[in-house]
Amino acid sequence: MLLLSGGTGSPKLLGGLLLYCSGAQVTVIANTGDDIWISGNLVCPDLDTVIYTTAGIVSERWWGINGDTFRTHERLASLGQKEALIIGELDRAIHIFRSDLLRRGATLTDATHTICASLELAAKILPMTDDFVPTTIVTDKGEMHIQDFLVKYQQAPSVSQVRCRPGKMTKEVETALEECRSVVIGPSNPISSIGPILNVNGMRKILKDRFVIGVSPIIRSEPISGPAGKFMESRGLPVSSLGVAEFYSDFLDALVVDHRDDISQSDLPDGIELFRADTIMYGIEQSKKLATEIVRILAHQS
Ligand code: GDP
Repeated sequence: MLLLSGGTGSPKLLGGLLLYCSGAQVTVIANTGDDIWISGNLVCPDLDTVIYTTAGIVSERWWGINGDTFRTHERLASLGQKEALIIGELDRAIHIFRSDLLRRGATLTDATHTICASLELAAKILPMTDDFVPTTIVTDKGEMHIQDFLVKYQQAPSVSQVRCRPGKMTKEVETALEECRSVVIGPSNPISSIGPILNVNGMRKILKDRFVIGVSPIIRSEPISGPAGKFMESRGLPVSSLGVAEFYSDFLDALVVDHRDDISQSDLPDGIELFRADTIMYGIEQSKKLATEIVRILAHQS
């Protein structure tokens, strides 16, 4: 099972999938367009959430590590260093470890492997690329890193463009894609979380040869959370599951939408089959139910 993931909706689904599949059966390719250097360390918000979810230590309140403390962050603030994200001590230890490995010549893929091995994780967790390709948002307040848009500006500016930079596909990502029969695209922001993964050189072409199932992060015309609406409008896409299907239409085979969505099969582009499920994951029980549905659909394909 191979999952493409951002940092909120897809990790919730991952929690459910891990109750079904053994870790060794799961590979995740995570978005790194959100990555940002803070206080000398590389912070990889989506990659880390995937790691913490797999390790069973994620805090779904702030997407860092459960039980973390924030004294270093507060001390830095009192020294005049305002960090772009609120970072806990346990989380920061991962960033320090990773950045040290990078400075000694490791790739992000190597560093992620070392972190996962230290945490004894069986799942394979891969950054989408080893290149640093930060996503920027072009707004009426200027062009800014996506983290500044989300945190400093609280998603308020109007958006004219989401700029994802192309990264080179790593050997590890290529091999993972070659070895899988099907790919799950979690309910993540299509433009800013999945978009950067699709922008990795050669990705869309490989996905065309796989069975790809996506879960919509939108019900009717409302994203469940976050700026997906603004970002989709900036691409000229409708803010709906149809917009999600259109964005993925060159490779998507199946789309899971919520029972409450008003989209029907005839609305979808040719070649995409519609499935319905409860897609809002308030907790692990709903994640498990949605994961069951996806595993069931995939079993019928093989
Ligand atoms: P980010 O990296 O923090 O932006 O997180 P993602 O892109 O992975 O997730 C954000 C997207 O997930 C938003 O567009 C939400 O609408 C969607 N989302 C969040 N929770 C859920 C959920 O429980 N179910 C579904 N279907 N979508 C969700």
